[in-house]
Amino acid sequence: MPTSNPQSSACVFCAIVNGGAPATYLYQDDLVVGFMDIRPVQPGHLLVVPRTHAKLIAELQDSILARMWSVATDLNRALRVSPLPVEAVSVYVADGEAAGQEVAHVHIHLIPRRADDRFGFRFPPGYGVQPARAALEAIAEQIRPGVASTEAPPPSGD
Ligand SMILES: [Zn+2]
Repeated sequence: MPTSNPQSSACVFCAIVNGGAPATYLYQDDLVVGFMDIRPVQPGHLLVVPRTHAKLIAELQDSILARMWSVATDLNRALRVSPLPVEAVSVYVADGEAAGQEVAHVHIHLIPRRADDRFGFRFPPGYGVQPARAALEAIAEQIRPGVASTEAPPPSGD
């Protein structure tokens, strides 16, 4: 493992990626580790974490983010071909406490789903009402200044 990766001694996921805390591992490489969630929502609930300690997605390098997604997709496939009851898979990141993040080290959840599993998001009152286009534009206008690049990539030329 690269020694330049910052780690947090107080972080349980840092301990797991270093082998300093017990875990049921599914996958390990130089950038990411996949292991079973110890409080599964459903059997097969697993996590993909970067070896680098970071609380939020935006703190990670693109190369690590890309690897996390790639490994999560491989593990998604593994869930679907397993004998576990997997009708679908919820893939999500709780990016901050208000989103439900309980461990301050980025992790992708993969949760096997069944139509009758009674797990899901709880939507606020008013959800489902379609806002006017002007309202969507006004909100988008508040987000666009922070977007790294709003220009289309140049033509590839081939
Ligand atoms: Zn950590």
